Amino acid sequence: MENPEPKSNFIREIIDADNASGKFQGRVHTRFPPEPNGYLHIGHATSIILNSGLARHYKGKFNLRFDDTNPAKEEQEYVDSIVEDVKWLGGDFEDRLFFASDYFQQMYDWAMQLVKAGKAYVCDLSADEMRAYRGSPGEPGKNSPFRDRTIEENVNLFERMKNGEFADGSRTLRAKIDMAHPNINMRDPAMYRIVHAEHHRQGNKWCIYPMYDWAHGLEDSIEGITHSICTLEFADHRPLYDWFIDQLGIYHPQQIEFARRTISNMVTSKRKLLELVKDKHVSGWDDPRMPTVCGLRRRGYTASSLRAFCDDAGISKVPGISDIWVLENALRNELNVSAPRVMAVLKPLKVILDNYPADKAEEMDVVNNPGDPAAGTRKVPFSRELYIEQDDFKEVPPKKFFRMTPGQEVRLRAAYIIKCESVAKDAAGNVTEVHCTYDPATKGGDAPDGRKIKGTIHWVSAKHALPAQVRLYDALFTKRNPDDLEEGQDFKENMNPNSLEVIEKAYLEPSLAKAEPGSRFQFERLGYFFADPKDSRPGAPVFNRTVTLKDTWAKIEQKA
Ligand code: ATP
Ligand code: MG
Repeated sequence: MENPEPKSNFIREIIDADNASGKFQGRVHTRFPPEPNGYLHIGHATSIILNSGLARHYKGKFNLRFDDTNPAKEEQEYVDSIVEDVKWLGGDFEDRLFFASDYFQQMYDWAMQLVKAGKAYVCDLSADEMRAYRGSPGEPGKNSPFRDRTIEENVNLFERMKNGEFADGSRTLRAKIDMAHPNINMRDPAMYRIVHAEHHRQGNKWCIYPMYDWAHGLEDSIEGITHSICTLEFADHRPLYDWFIDQLGIYHPQQIEFARRTISNMVTSKRKLLELVKDKHVSGWDDPRMPTVCGLRRRGYTASSLRAFCDDAGISKVPGISDIWVLENALRNELNVSAPRVMAVLKPLKVILDNYPADKAEEMDVVNNPGDPAAGTRKVPFSRELYIEQDDFKEVPPKKFFRMTPGQEVRLRAAYIIKCESVAKDAAGNVTEVHCTYDPATKGGDAPDGRKIKGTIHWVSAKHALPAQVRLYDALFTKRNPDDLEEGQDFKENMNPNSLEVIEKAYLEPSLAKAEPGSRFQFERLGYFFADPKDSRPGAPVFNRTVTLKDTWAKIEQKA
């Protein structure tokens, strides 16, 4: 589904001003720079949609670049999943899939240029010592005893670092800036560390690896990025990126910071998501309760609804929490238009129409989408024995209960008006069957005499029903902000114990035997459901509830 043009935002205003002044000759070139150390989540999706959307809007370019500068935590599995997710979200990087590790030689040469200019030095302090020398925001740091090494000595040591002569952690290359600088990031930050580890693309070619702060701005510069968009925590690093680029005299992208996207009742930290997967609180990265892009996809979210959500929620300079129901509503708005209606009974109660012939079956014409006449109708078989939802029957009805109750007429959607005459119960007194009579003059559901029937319920013919597993997913966290913890509390204590209910045998109308894995339906009166792409098969469908029909957050938030 095509999204309308997104609303303007402060980043677009900056780009408009740059285009007006000719700062980048009217070029707009953005990127998404993930570290391949986990699966993407809804926060990353925001960044992808924002960056690729800007490129599309300004007829510019968008790069996907892996920031693979840390050999320890990176894996091909993550690279593959990220590429898939970015494409699925509509991030069109064409042939511009890049890896920061391909720039290692260029970065090394530039580092050597700074060494030779007396602007970087090899330091022998340990990580702990470096931290102690760094000082604190209110208190200046102290110069490293190695700060005044000669250029010749630094050139020699840096080369030998690269050649693998020194042990991990024994030395770093540091920028020579100012240990008393009010911005701690400017206090001689490390540029390279020694790590003898195999890199997923470079193998054992390198045993020194660039630090994020050294590498990141260079990557953007190399690729000719115009607007380097990142989250707020990098604002304090911008002077350092600027310093590196100015010292080298290379092309200078413009960094712009925006507030991280946080959504209520979700956690979006790779570390925490990894913990949920590793400790088996969920079935994997793509568990439909996960806020990962692959989890949302398996839940049944569409890429266009995520884009609509991002456009709607906008971009901000101020951190805040977006409500999860805004995300869900973006999806409902889309599925309301696009998802065909079908009938399914999740918690069945047998209904027997005593005056309907036992050997008879009819086909009822049922509307596929009341909002879309072009969607037409389908045939749904009807017979003497039916299933309805347990909830739609009450032997002792509360006030204003218009569904099935003894002596009251109710409409079966697109079928007949029926009336409950009696019930059968088991030894424990539970209703096992409801006996009804049907009015043969009401085929299609309307009474020719015009009598008003207030309640309409859905149904499935028992002998034609298709049994299927249906999984009802709910929020993984009950607390609005699961990261808001008391001392000593773990975020997992805020997990929702009822986030998954598996119904082993729901009854579906038989047309769903043809449901392709990955297709979406509205189960009438129940919600939107998605044929699980991994577990569903034509003829033996498995459905995930994507979202309920109405917003139920008011109730859940009261519980929290
Ligand atoms: P995490 O904190 O989950 O580990 P990260 O920021 O370290 O995420 P990266 O792989 O570095 O993960 O992220 C790639 C890009 O996604 C970065 O440009 C980052 O700014 C952006 N990003 C990450 N999380 C969010 C978020 N919640 N909202 C918007 N953008 C985000
Ligand atoms: Mg990061």
